[in-house]
Amino acid sequence: MAILEIVKDPAPVLRRKARPVTKINAAIRKLLDDMTETMYAAPGVGLAAPQVGVSKRVIVVDPQDGSGRLYQLINPEIVHAEGWVKGTEGCLSIPGLVGDVWRYEKVRVVALDRDGRKVWIDAEGWLARIFQHEIDHLDGILYTDKCTNLRPVSEEDEEEAGDAEGGAAAEAGEPASAGAPEKADASAAPSAAEVKAESGAGAPAAEGE
Ligand code: ZN
Repeated sequence: MAILEIVKDPAPVLRRKARPVTKINAAIRKLLDDMTETMYAAPGVGLAAPQVGVSKRVIVVDPQDGSGRLYQLINPEIVHAEGWVKGTEGCLSIPGLVGDVWRYEKVRVVALDRDGRKVWIDAEGWLARIFQHEIDHLDGILYTDKCTNLRPVSEEDEEEAGDAEGGAAAEAGEPASAGAPEKADASAAPSAAEVKAESGAGAPAAEGE
């Protein structure tokens, strides 16, 4: 694994619509692992491939809410959403700033996992907000496009971010928490019929760029 460089706004790759992954191979799994290590090192709670200069529809998310869940998702899509809630966000690609963003309160995300299995994730609150922020990155959208009250991150914002960011808060956070993190109810249901992954290690790195 390797820690990758996080590209900063206004890098053009952040504004490109990322391409779907058509083949899940060793190169994609390495990208997922490198992005995960990069997210933890930042530290952040989510990272999208364009943020490491790769225009592919790949995200990693760990809400760091005590659930111990790490999501490594390929071609994620929001297929259902409900509710509407405002919260404070920051972005690893836009250091030092936070803003208030309206997001869906609950989302259902469908994606492929690192083995090419289809997964469904029902998320709400904090986790739902992270998924929406990261999936926006895949469409070239930054939170600053839709936020109000964009401001330098303050101590108050850091306090609001609370434990979910391990005290590092919005400067490091991705996104910064909106108040108390809510309990996320996530589940993943693999479907054997959907397996598209190549088997075995050392598969050719056909997806590499
Ligand atoms: Zn971001």
